[in-house]
Amino acid sequence: MMKRTSADIRKKIEKGEAVVMTAQEVSDLLSRGDETSVREVDVVTTGTRGIMSGTYAVLSFPMTAPGLFDRAERVTMNGVPAIVGPCPNERLGVLDLMVFGTSVNESDPRYGGGHLFRELMEGKEIEVGMTADDGREFSRKITLEDMPFARMMATRNAFRNYRAVVNTGDAPVRTIFHADVLRPGLRELTFSGCGHLNPLQNDPELRAIGIGTRVLVNGGEGFITGKGTRTSPGSPNLTMVADMKGMDPEMAGGFITSAGPECTVSWAVPIPILDDGMLRFVGTPDSSIGMPITDIKDRDQVGTADYSQVWDGVSATVSVDASACLECIECEAQEKCPTAAIDFPGGLPSIDRHLCFNCGFCSTMCRGEVFKADLGRVRFEMEGQEVEVPVVCRQSDRVRALKLAENLKERILDGSFVITDAVERLHP
Ligand code: SF4
Ligand code: SF4
Repeated sequence: MMKRTSADIRKKIEKGEAVVMTAQEVSDLLSRGDETSVREVDVVTTGTRGIMSGTYAVLSFPMTAPGLFDRAERVTMNGVPAIVGPCPNERLGVLDLMVFGTSVNESDPRYGGGHLFRELMEGKEIEVGMTADDGREFSRKITLEDMPFARMMATRNAFRNYRAVVNTGDAPVRTIFHADVLRPGLRELTFSGCGHLNPLQNDPELRAIGIGTRVLVNGGEGFITGKGTRTSPGSPNLTMVADMKGMDPEMAGGFITSAGPECTVSWAVPIPILDDGMLRFVGTPDSSIGMPITDIKDRDQVGTADYSQVWDGVSATVSVDASACLECIECEAQEKCPTAAIDFPGGLPSIDRHLCFNCGFCSTMCRGEVFKADLGRVRFEMEGQEVEVPVVCRQSDRVRALKLAENLKERILDGSFVITDAVERLHP
């Protein structure tokens, strides 16, 4: 029986002898029946990208010269309210702030913390407004580069897959689980979870994933700090800390739901294969990964499907045929795109692929045949009846999750990313 430590694997990597594969590659090999090649693997790189509400930033930077105000009482960044503190930085002119990914711009309900984080990563200037404890107001512009401290953290991220949502009621529901209201009568379904690519799915016994595991968050290096809120044995999630400098804006951002702006985050996690037992879990097919289906009315589970129904044989991205545009008076696809990725340069509809989350919603909103994607249909049993519901919006982006897992593989092989041992194990 094969048994080794991550130090043994690091040595193999240094000598250029390690076999590193993405979870997608492992899955492809297994589906071809090639178990022999999979037994050679030393590290599996996994990934997930989705709406991760439990994300916040801790930022610290000089607001004015020392002595110009005693304490900050209220701060906004591009209109998004920040929480001041916990350190008061009395008379230092310095702000310590927490900004939630779900906080909303006070005058623009389509701009939130997730949008702000992305603009920081893009190197854009951010407008900071501050009211001091004596009522005086100050403002300044700042970029991420100007901040001595900018870390992204999480109260809850990277669930081991997640769930699908339907509405069995008779009225539409505003929800963070859809870019629009979720229509009643079991007419549509949205879901989250990257299936077989998901980090915790590939290491459910938490053999490699623990406190101190080095990971990529939005393309920058970070570390796992523990389990997150609402974690449970069947549905664990993780917390992390990662430097915002070096993050790739394409991997993060804001996502407008019918209940307000949300924050998207991408993770890639290396899983060193320490013994044969760990191989049992890598490459688990989507068809063996359960997807609970929840009713948005009360969050009760009404059925179970699996991730093959939403990822196998569907369109990973949306195709665009601008010539099919009907030139509607109002373009609903553009209006409801959760990442504002649709525009009409030169009068023709097009998608900004850097902004696009690959949610597929525009393919259901376009009145012509401009935006096309097969998002799949989900069959499940509910109250003894077989039902089938079309997917209308994905809240996970498997294209970027795979891209980040591939990027992590390259970085491990070229030595620029070093896999770590957890300093303490997390128990399932
Ligand atoms: S798939 Fe369509 S609706 Fe979704 S983010 Fe991309 S352009 Fe917008
Ligand atoms: S909804 Fe579709 S057909 Fe209508 S304007 Fe928008 S892109 Fe064109």
